Amino acid sequence: MTIGIWVLGDQLWQQQSALASCKQDKKRYPVILIESSQYVQQRPYHGQKLVLVWSAMRHFAEELKSDGWDVTYQISEDFVTPLQAWIQEYRITQLRVMTPSDRPFEQFINNLDLNCNVSLIPNNHFLWSKQEFHDWAKSRKRLLLEDFYRQGRKRFNILMDGDKPIGGKWNFDKQNRKPPKKNLATPTALWFEPDRITISVIERIEELKLNIYGKIEPFRWGVTRQQAKQVLGHFLTQCFSNFGTYQDAMVTGEDTLWHSLISPYLNLGLLQPMEVIKAAEQAYHSKELALNNVEGFIRQVLGWREYMYGIYHHTEADYGDGNWFNHHHPLPQFYWDGAKTEMNCLRQILTQVERTGYAHHIQRLMVLSNFALIAGVSPQEIESWFHAAFIDAYDWVMQTNVIGMGQFADGGKLASKPYAASANYINKMSDYCGNCTFDRTSRHSPNACPFNFFYWDFLDRHREKLKSLGRMNLVLANLKKISPEELAQIKSLAENWWTKENC
Ligand SMILES: Cc1cc2nc3c(=O)[nH]c(=O)nc-3n(C[C@H](O)[C@H](O)[C@H](O)COP(=O)(O)OP(=O)(O)OC[C@H]3O[C@@H](n4cnc5c(N)ncnc54)[C@H](O)[C@@H]3O)c2cc1C
Repeated sequence: MTIGIWVLGDQLWQQQSALASCKQDKKRYPVILIESSQYVQQRPYHGQKLVLVWSAMRHFAEELKSDGWDVTYQISEDFVTPLQAWIQEYRITQLRVMTPSDRPFEQFINNLDLNCNVSLIPNNHFLWSKQEFHDWAKSRKRLLLEDFYRQGRKRFNILMDGDKPIGGKWNFDKQNRKPPKKNLATPTALWFEPDRITISVIERIEELKLNIYGKIEPFRWGVTRQQAKQVLGHFLTQCFSNFGTYQDAMVTGEDTLWHSLISPYLNLGLLQPMEVIKAAEQAYHSKELALNNVEGFIRQVLGWREYMYGIYHHTEADYGDGNWFNHHHPLPQFYWDGAKTEMNCLRQILTQVERTGYAHHIQRLMVLSNFALIAGVSPQEIESWFHAAFIDAYDWVMQTNVIGMGQFADGGKLASKPYAASANYINKMSDYCGNCTFDRTSRHSPNACPFNFFYWDFLDRHREKLKSLGRMNLVLANLKKISPEELAQIKSLAENWWTKENC
């Protein structure tokens, strides 16, 4: 039997399971990586995401070669033509691939008609395998993040003191999520200059004239494991001490605040979740950092990230088609060109995403996704947009975060209530409203902030459904206090918004 290994673009780790299964004799096992231009034409992508993935693949191929592997790197239109030629050249009888994180690509591989046997090796880029998550989930009525996270802390012995959480509490949210103060001294993010390989990828993408979103340059992301480790190190020394405290704050001109910027690297395999968690735990012990920041960060990686991957594979393949609220409005055009909206919060964040491919969690959840939810945009349209716009977007993380958490389109499999909010929340957590032409205090005047009339219209439209979610009772009680006249004005603003130039 001659085994050949196909390394996919988001599997760039020397210990990934397909490579690891052959590492005892590297020279004997040919390896292939393929850049397919057809694949990236199926939907638009952020230009910088394409540069990141292809440049990281090219760098990883070099790394494998210098480590003794026999590597073929193919730049091609499709995947099948170079695969077939390589299989023939090396007389490969078994093609080994680590199981893709995304379902559609796994399906694609299963449907390939190649001249050899194809073997999928279980994915080891996550701490919980699909089976382990199923085993955890199968006996539970509700799949609560909090339960899963605590189980993860115990299972991997992270921030534990025997069987108790360090500090006596599992959750320090009360000390976290502070609104931004004036004149915050924020850390500078660590960025990189593009090297020769990255420049040649940028040139290729420009030549291909793809339908890309956002600005391809300046490109400043890391493209190697070494750079990804530097970003992690920079986070731990410069940002970690305030991560939790200002985790939810949004400030004009501050793209990254105290966030780690590691999701693009984790999602490609350039960083591994356990090394990130261990490094964070170690920093806590050696630097005596405040526990709220450390716990808040570990919760994201050990909790949320693993939970999202687990739910994606635990639910049916049609999870992404969910539409619990029956929302069908098209995505407003300004999502594709942020300068076209007068809503300052959306304009600031959308133009930031165009420039960088990045926004932090609360910008994504409470502004970009929240607006689509309360305005009644089709969950699938906003999910496609997120997929196109972000540097770290992949199917497994999009469906759960956008369809589940952001749009509540799964009817509450993942979240216990919709993340819907008016301008009040945005004003509390950011400085955006101060420079906006809309009136953040009004919900029914001609100049009322659209987040306000859409919010109350959303609650009214879905009153009956929302009643079934206990956690919405308080806001529904406030809805009842709005007079019929004011509610009619609110509803008319919401309806008319769609007839204007907005869609
Ligand atoms: C609508 C919406 C869309 C999102 N799209 C993506 C996406 O395309 N890709 C992506 O990786 N994350 C996505 N997230 C989750 C989260 O917003 C990003 O992981 C995070 O903002 C990345 O920035 P960071 O590395 O600076 O994260 P930090 O704030 O520094 O957090 C540390 C790490 O925790 C992990 N993490 C935290 N929350 C989540 C979560 N909900 N799901 C998965 N991982 C999490 C990430 O790996 C992240 O790098 C989305 C969230 C929402 C609400």
